[in-house]
Amino acid sequence: MEHKKEHKSALHVQQGVEQPSSVNEDFLKQMKKVPKVQPAEYYVNGILRGDRILLSQAITLVESSLPQHHQVAQSIIALCLPHSKNSIRIGITGVPGVGKSTFIEALGMHLTARGHKLAVLAIDPSSQRSKGSILGDKTRMEELSVNPAAYIRPSPSAGSLGGVARKTRESALLCEAAGFDVIIIETVGVGQSETAVHSMVDFFLLLMLSGAGDELQGIKRGIMEMADGIAINKADGDNVRRAEIARMGYQNALHLFPPAPSGYSPKVLVCSARTLSNIDTVWEMIEEYIFQTRENGYFEIRRKNQASDIMREFIDDTLKSGFYSHPTIQDKIREINIRTANGEISPYQAAQILLKLYSDLTGK
Ligand code: GDP
Repeated sequence: MEHKKEHKSALHVQQGVEQPSSVNEDFLKQMKKVPKVQPAEYYVNGILRGDRILLSQAITLVESSLPQHHQVAQSIIALCLPHSKNSIRIGITGVPGVGKSTFIEALGMHLTARGHKLAVLAIDPSSQRSKGSILGDKTRMEELSVNPAAYIRPSPSAGSLGGVARKTRESALLCEAAGFDVIIIETVGVGQSETAVHSMVDFFLLLMLSGAGDELQGIKRGIMEMADGIAINKADGDNVRRAEIARMGYQNALHLFPPAPSGYSPKVLVCSARTLSNIDTVWEMIEEYIFQTRENGYFEIRRKNQASDIMREFIDDTLKSGFYSHPTIQDKIREINIRTANGEISPYQAAQILLKLYSDLTGK
């Protein structure tokens, strides 16, 4: 693995751990990183022993879009599933610059000092468009990236948001089977990825800033509504008072939202990832939430709902990819596109012709 840069990107695996590519477009590179695909049990045994190299290789297989990796990846996931029950999954979002990576580093050091094992995964929609991702470029977790109790995995960068989200969720399962009991999934607060992260975590934390006026810093109301807790970061130096004012403002704003289905009223706290002030309080809030929702049954319900969403999503994906990858359909789409463009048939007629053809071809 390479460590040419002066400072390592936050979302890179720590030194000493082989770092397979998370970009799956390049067939040759991919094959170099996983020279020979082994049977699923080989990876699973390694994962259950806590072997990070095999964990990384297994995640690479899960992230891979190569058809020959699909079967083994699915077997690895199935074998890991029974071993991935006892974790807490936390989603963290906030606009670029709010301090996500600094905060995760601070929280991560706090947790590992208390005996937790932490995996940090990321969903970074920007990395799908360009090599330069918002998370990867801007963040660093220097201490955490060399902490033996932490495992940091960069965002998979190929595919649609849905695809990336699924890979991240599956990677989280493997990390849980490897003994990581806290999983943090980080995302940039700029779009739909928050919804994806929210759908795979037990607690969703929104990081915010003070002093940005009343407007919600580009954070949409819907995202605030999704939050199980809010932390106003950078409450240090001159900013302490402003952070406190912002805290009260956001706490009042939250009162206007309908009651959360968790039965837990989201809290707004202030903290400083730089001075480490109140990082412990934020963790206590998360623990309190987990305790309460386990008691009232919501924790279990949320996970069950997520499992049912995952199933539906997987069916959608499988049906869609079966359709679009069928060679006869691909030919027909090309042909029919010309006819719709010429105005010979409507797009709806075109869709019906294609669906009927697929049904005839496959008997589905
Ligand atoms: P991200 O883009 O959300 O991951 O934000 P970063 O963690 O990269 O932080 C952006 C900038 O804010 C960096 O210069 C950090 O040093 C700084 N920063 C992060 N947390 C704090 C904090 O609690 N207090 C202060 N004063 N600066 C912070």
